[in-house]
Amino acid sequence: MEPELPNSDNEHTDVLIIGGGFGGINAARRLDRLLRRRLKAKVTLISRTNFYLFTPLLAEVAAALIDALHAVNPIRRMLKRVRFIQGTVLKLDAKAREATYANENGDERTLTYEHCILAPGSVTAFFGIKGLEKGAFTMKTVGDAIQVRNHVVSLLERAESLPPSKRQHLLSFAVVGGGLNGTEVAGELFDFVLRASDDYASIQRGDIRMVLIEMRESLAQELPEQVGSYCKDNLQSRGMEIWLSARVTGYTNGLLEIRDGREIATETVIWSAGVRPSPLIAGIDAERIEQDDRLPTNEFLQVRGYDNLWAVGDSAAIPDAKEGTYMPPTAQHAVRQGRHVAVNVARAIMGKPLEPFHYSSLGMLATLGRYRGAGRVFGIPLTGFPAWFAWRTYYLLTLPRWDRRLRVMIDWTLDLLFPPEIVQLKVERLHPETGADLGVERRGGGGENQRTQAVNATRDSAPSSEQSARTAKPAP
Ligand SMILES: Cc1cc2nc3c(=O)[nH]c(=O)nc-3n(C[C@H](O)[C@H](O)[C@H](O)COP(=O)(O)OP(=O)(O)OC[C@H]3O[C@@H](n4cnc5c(N)ncnc54)[C@H](O)[C@@H]3O)c2cc1C
Repeated sequence: MEPELPNSDNEHTDVLIIGGGFGGINAARRLDRLLRRRLKAKVTLISRTNFYLFTPLLAEVAAALIDALHAVNPIRRMLKRVRFIQGTVLKLDAKAREATYANENGDERTLTYEHCILAPGSVTAFFGIKGLEKGAFTMKTVGDAIQVRNHVVSLLERAESLPPSKRQHLLSFAVVGGGLNGTEVAGELFDFVLRASDDYASIQRGDIRMVLIEMRESLAQELPEQVGSYCKDNLQSRGMEIWLSARVTGYTNGLLEIRDGREIATETVIWSAGVRPSPLIAGIDAERIEQDDRLPTNEFLQVRGYDNLWAVGDSAAIPDAKEGTYMPPTAQHAVRQGRHVAVNVARAIMGKPLEPFHYSSLGMLATLGRYRGAGRVFGIPLTGFPAWFAWRTYYLLTLPRWDRRLRVMIDWTLDLLFPPEIVQLKVERLHPETGADLGVERRGGGGENQRTQAVNATRDSAPSSEQSARTAKPAP
């Protein structure tokens, strides 16, 4: 029999993992360890990026507290025995046990499998609100965080050269979504803009307007009520406006509209008000539950109706027997689910009984900017400096790989000593002779090459591509 070529068009793997985020990478790492010991199987991880993004640090990247590279980890260095393919899975035929993906060359390939672990995460949900998808920033990728920082610095530069009467919209910032993530983004970003504005002679801290908009009646509803109230009081005391029970109805011509008639003229709207499962999930032939787009699983993390299709993370609806509901889409759940599914898949391959998944959250923490945080640990509400310190310590310890921990620790130490960076790191390419800005096109192949076309066509993260178009100036 001919040996299987490593990159032939049709391949087979015993275990296929889709998505290298919190759920997928933890499944892959646990299987990697099991492969060293008793498991005999071929395991393949396919993910769109060749790095694992630590999302809790994204607000800090946007706020220039840590280097963007330090919030990501190269997947290839995290795995020894699991094969990694950088690619986008386009279609999964669960009945035929076959995944079709586009690799980085834009070539379409198929992989057949015995077991598939789905962990493609979620995408931003705009709920069809007018103008948001096109005009708002999101905070889901490392590119989003860099673009937000570049954009904020660019606004400060523009505002510096305008009279106060003409620049208020440039210095007004709106974050929509007062859940834990949105509150964190608003707090960190407000701190950053205030500190950065000190370098602009004509801009006073009082010129900066930051509005956090939430449609419910309180902030950070994932936390106890008094912690949500602390978040509100703390952010307000620093000068932030908090609009509660405020529903955004549109964002057009630089005007963010609220249902009650209020408006904000702003060039910066950061949308942090909802996610939905990856579009890959919608195409999978499986049972659904009412008003939940996620893939429902049983307690062993098998997708209902299948014994070889497994799902974890944001795209899975995993029953929480203790609460009588489904588990929330958080990183801490995805990590545990990822490790557990790896063990169950290994047990299935070895013909052993499966183990049910149980997990109760130990707590939740968020940073609200320098020296202030909020959360709940082991059921105890925590606010102020202790919460901020606990947040930093916890995330430092849970970051994978020592080199990343050290780099983040150095970034944080330097931030305590020096003001934030106010440079715009534009991904631009200048014409070698004329100096004209050629935008962000890849070099080689003469313009849009095959890979760019194929991947652009399949990428579901439309906000990112639109935002890069916003930062790329046309060539004169
Ligand atoms: C700004 C921010 C801050 C957050 N902070 C916290 C926090 O402090 N605590 C907490 O518990 N949770 C936090 N979360 C939530 C947490 O990030 C998610 O719950 C978690 O990432 C879900 O893990 P996952 O594995 O399901 O998806 P992800 O971690 O998103 O990973 C999905 C992976 O799949 C890849 N992928 C997607 N589609 C495809 C495809 N078709 N083909 C190939 N690859 C694909 C993606 O590129 C990605 O690598 C935060 C989220 C954000 C956005």
